[in-house]
Amino acid sequence: RNLKKYFPVNTDFWGRPTAWLKAVDDISFDIGRGETLGLVGESGCGKSTTGRTIIQLYQPTAGTIRFNGRLLDREAKEKQLYRDMQMVFQDPYASLNPRMTVRDIIGEPLDIHGLAAGKERAERIGDILNMVGLNSEFASRFPHEFSGGQRQRIGIARALAVNPSFIICDEPISALDVSIQAQIVNLLEHLQAKLGLTYLFIAHDLAMVKHISNRVAVMYLGKIVEIAASQELYSKPQHPYTQALLSAIPVPDPVAEARRKRILLADDVPNPMHPPSGCRFRTRCQYAMPRCASEEPPLADRGAGHMTACHL
Ligand code: SF4
Ligand code: MG
Repeated sequence: RNLKKYFPVNTDFWGRPTAWLKAVDDISFDIGRGETLGLVGESGCGKSTTGRTIIQLYQPTAGTIRFNGRLLDREAKEKQLYRDMQMVFQDPYASLNPRMTVRDIIGEPLDIHGLAAGKERAERIGDILNMVGLNSEFASRFPHEFSGGQRQRIGIARALAVNPSFIICDEPISALDVSIQAQIVNLLEHLQAKLGLTYLFIAHDLAMVKHISNRVAVMYLGKIVEIAASQELYSKPQHPYTQALLSAIPVPDPVAEARRKRILLADDVPNPMHPPSGCRFRTRCQYAMPRCASEEPPLADRGAGHMTACHL
């Protein structure tokens, strides 16, 4: 609720911040148990920061995060109440320690939380490897011996080690070959059905989250501009930004593809240190009116949980 994460970017002589990067600026949303919420937006819009703040890698500047009804704060972190939440990272090359064997990568969270030792630990690691589609004999190998897709499977296995109920997937397929992306999405869906997992699935374009998300939230410059059930969002997008993002996705049917009208966005994303007044999207919006510069549009329900932040 009302989550904010600001980063200091400039400091004065005394080390006090003089400017802030408002990476996440007052956003509120819910994720239901067993659901996948897609979170989409261009790079730098605050989606990774949102994920990292939820999982307590960052301390929120303001706002509250509740998980299973419990407030997540420093105290909860000390008591490891957030263990039920895990994260899968974008870059399986960078997020796996190259000097650790697969066994130790998956075993580390088990050790930290004192969950399994000895024979039980070895069995658990073998089971998890099988669950993500890898041979348990791979346990003694090192990350460099695997392909990108296999490495992401190892990253998923590490996240699963402590039996989480909620996983934040931060662009888990963006760094992979297109041919591998569907395999990883299928694996995540299979694991969700089998283990009853809940996902926050972060991606930079709407095509990537289409098949996995029950609902989708679209972010722009630190704000959520639209959030709706997937079918609704893809068939009846309301926010001009969502409409532009959707128009960029090619359609397989050649007739429809020939008719597809791309909405080209003017300019680049403005500097997040100095976001436009009023509606942050107004510098790129083809419908911008005088009111859009003076008044920030609230994220409001337009019926059946379809929320949009636009004066139109
Ligand atoms: Fe465009 Fe105005 Fe709507 Fe913002 S509030 S998206 S500028 S029409
Ligand atoms: Mg990111």
